Formats: sequence, structure tokens, C-alpha cells
Amino acid sequence: MRYDTVIIGGGLSGLMSGIALARAGQQVAIISAGQSALHFSSGSFELYGGAEHPLEGIATLPAEHPYQKLGVERVAHYAEQTQELLREAGIQTTGSTARNHYRFTPIGMVKPAWLSLADYTPLESADALPWRRVLVANLEGYLDFFPSFVSAGLARLGVESSVATISLPQLEHLRKSTTEMRATNIARILEGDVLRALAEALNERVGDAEAILMPAVVGLKSDKAMFELREQVSVPICFLPTMPASVPGVRTQLTLSSYFQQLGGAYLIGDNVVRGNFEDGRLVSVRSNNHEDVEFRADNFIIATGSFFSHGLVAETNRIVEPIFGLDVEADEQRTQWYAKDLYARQPYMSYGLRSDDRFRPMIEGRPIENLYAVGSILAGQRAIEEGTGGGVATTTALYVADLILNR
Ligand SMILES: Cc1cc2nc3c(=O)[nH]c(=O)nc-3n(C[C@H](O)[C@H](O)[C@H](O)COP(=O)(O)OP(=O)(O)OC[C@H]3O[C@@H](n4cnc5c(N)ncnc54)[C@H](O)[C@@H]3O)c2cc1C
Repeated sequence: MRYDTVIIGGGLSGLMSGIALARAGQQVAIISAGQSALHFSSGSFELYGGAEHPLEGIATLPAEHPYQKLGVERVAHYAEQTQELLREAGIQTTGSTARNHYRFTPIGMVKPAWLSLADYTPLESADALPWRRVLVANLEGYLDFFPSFVSAGLARLGVESSVATISLPQLEHLRKSTTEMRATNIARILEGDVLRALAEALNERVGDAEAILMPAVVGLKSDKAMFELREQVSVPICFLPTMPASVPGVRTQLTLSSYFQQLGGAYLIGDNVVRGNFEDGRLVSVRSNNHEDVEFRADNFIIATGSFFSHGLVAETNRIVEPIFGLDVEADEQRTQWYAKDLYARQPYMSYGLRSDDRFRPMIEGRPIENLYAVGSILAGQRAIEEGTGGGVATTTALYVADLILNR
């Protein structure tokens, strides 16, 4: 099979590159093993969490950081484009590239964010919440959300709260097993009449609260049910992230992949790329587990297979490898150097990733592959969690590489 571009990995970065290329008229295939970091995501994307104005903070990052290769102007440009493409795909976000907003977390903290999905209530400030009294509501038997943490966090910020547990008979069959009572299963049921029953129960319990804080378990395939619930309840609802799987994250993945397919992209999910065929410094084709007899040929390839979490990088006993092509990895040599014994100290392995040139072309033995590009969390030099840069690196590198391929 022949494409203009084949993308390996269909998480946030692979999908953003795929959408940008397909909407420019390219024939694109995304081959993806399965779940991505989006399935575990908070539903807020981070550009740079270490400063109020992310673009100013970016300048302070180390030279090997993917943002430094892009430069601040490109980061700003592609960050703006990210918000536009998300909107175009049908994903509503709030937030701006110029200044972080804040979000209230499920453990009762306040964190900076770049873009937040419409489920959440963006906050102007880190130390003042827009409510005086709220209701924290949970569903009976749902164990992946902790109202007591939420209430304690609210109290620290001077907000009074009461806790309500809503019991819906329609969820009874899920409650029989804690493995079934998960966010995504609940969201499948919270539609139509069941959603109306939930709205009624919330209205009965709201009392004099100015808002309801509840787990983000509404609206799996689209955000329609989430907006419907808000319309049916007398006070604003602020959803809060839950333990995985993340309903807003899975919805983002589904919405982006269906938009990519609407644009004519081929989305091959549940398949692993296992090897590539190189000729004269170019990648000519790749092969996958499910299509052993098929060669996926393309002019350009993008590797977007994520970091350790998604097996884009693999730690063997004595070395860290990129398992498909054996690309050069930026990592310490000795296993004992990979981690710090103090769990809370800076962990060296977190910045490991693919070595690449200034066009994000990964290398084999120091030589860049002419038509292979790397995007997202597989790139070396970022510390996504510490810096609060995960979503920003994924989307800005993805869109930049798409432009390189399109010769823009
Ligand atoms: C648990 C977790 C939570 C996070 N939460 C947030 C958050 O709330 N906000 C934020 O901004 N950032 C968050 N991040 C950072 C996150 O890494 C980035 O935001 C971004 O989602 C990374 O996207 P990616 O496409 O680079 O990688 P991934 O999302 O990891 O996607 C890689 C994809 O490649 C596929 N793949 C791997 N190997 C192969 C192969 N051989 N063949 C085919 N497919 C393959 C995987 O199955 C996966 O689908 C989080 C990261 C993790 C790990």
C-alpha cells in the first residue's frame, strides 16, 4: 500500500500531524497499537506550566528541549494552530497561549493549564475560587473519585462544601463489580433518561450551593451529554478529572481520529509497526504485525510512538531502545544512572528520548534518516511532567513536522 505519509502511533501527536497533512490533501495512514496517553489525560493540555506566561517561560528551558529547536515564535504559531484545529475537529477548549489559566484538580489542588476541555471550569487565579459554597457530588459505588480530597482542597481555599452520593438504579449492574464501575462504562449509560434522572437527583441535592463539582463521567463519544446535563441542572457544573480511564481524554482521541478519517485518512488501530526497510538513508516502507504480507510505502514517515508509557521507548536490562528501527536514543549508559533512588527527586529517565536534528529527524548511528520525522513525547530533552509541557510538545512538534513535509 502506498501513501504520501505513514504515521506510526495514533496518540495526540500522531493524530495532529495526520489531521494537518490530510486536510492539506495528502493520502495519510496512521498505524497505531492502541491506547495512548490521552486515555489517561486530565483533559487539560499543558504548554508550559512553570510560568504565568508560558511563552516567556519556554525561553528558560535547556538547549536540547524540543521547544528550543522550534524557537518561541514557532511554538506560539503552532500552539495557536492547535486550538484552531481542535475547534475544527469539534473539540471545544478554553485557554490561551499568552497566559495560563488554572484548574482545580481532583486532589484538591490548583494547577496551571494551557487549554482545558469544556468539561472544566477555568480559573483566573491559583488562590481564589469563584464559589463560596459548592456541592461535591459522586455516584454511589464509584471509587475513582475522592470527594474528601476535593472538600479538603476547597476548605483550604475558603470554600464551604457538602458531599452528596447519588444513587441511580440504572447503574446497579455496574456496581456489582468495582472493575465495571469505571468512568468510561458509566459514561456509556449516562445518556437520555438516565441523564435526566441524574439531573433530577442533583437538583434535589443542590440546596444553596452555587455550583456542583462532580467526576467527569459524562459524554464519551461526544460532549453532547455533558452539555445536556449542564442545561438540566439549576447551577453550573464543574467536572473534575477522575482516575483513568479519562472520559474527556478518550473523547478527545475518538473525536480526533474520526475527524482524521473524515478528511480521508486511513486509521489502522490495534496494529503494531514492527520493522522498516531502509535504502540509501531513506525509509522506504514499514511492516506491521496484523498485515505481515503488506508493505506500507510512503514518501515520508512520522514516528509518534510515545515514551516508555506507550512502548515508544523500551528499557531492556542494560540499554534503552527504540524498538521498531533501533533509532539513536539519548540516555545514560548505566542502568544505575537511569533513576534517582529518591522517588521525588528529578528522574533522569524522564528526559530520555530520540536524538534528532533541528528538523526532528531521528538518527541511526548519528546520521539523520532523510524522510523520517519524530514528534511528541518520544523526543529527547523534555521533562513533560516536571515542566508541564506534555500537550504543547506533542501538538507543536506534530504541526511543525507536518509543515516540513508539506514544504511550508
Ligand atoms: C499517564 C499520562 C498522563 C498524561 N496527562 C497529560 C495531561 O493531562 N496533559 C498534558 O498536557 N499532557 C499529559 N501527558 C503527557 C502526554 O505524554 C502528552 O500530552 C501527549 O498526549 C503525548 O502524545 P504522543 O502522541 O506523543 O504519545 P502517546 O499518547 O503515548 O501515543 C503513542 C501512540 O503510539 C502507539 N504505538 C507505540 N508503539 C507502536 C508501534 N510499534 N506501532 C504502532 N503504534 C505504536 C501507542 O499505542 C500510542 O497510541 C500525560 C502523559 C501520561 C503518560
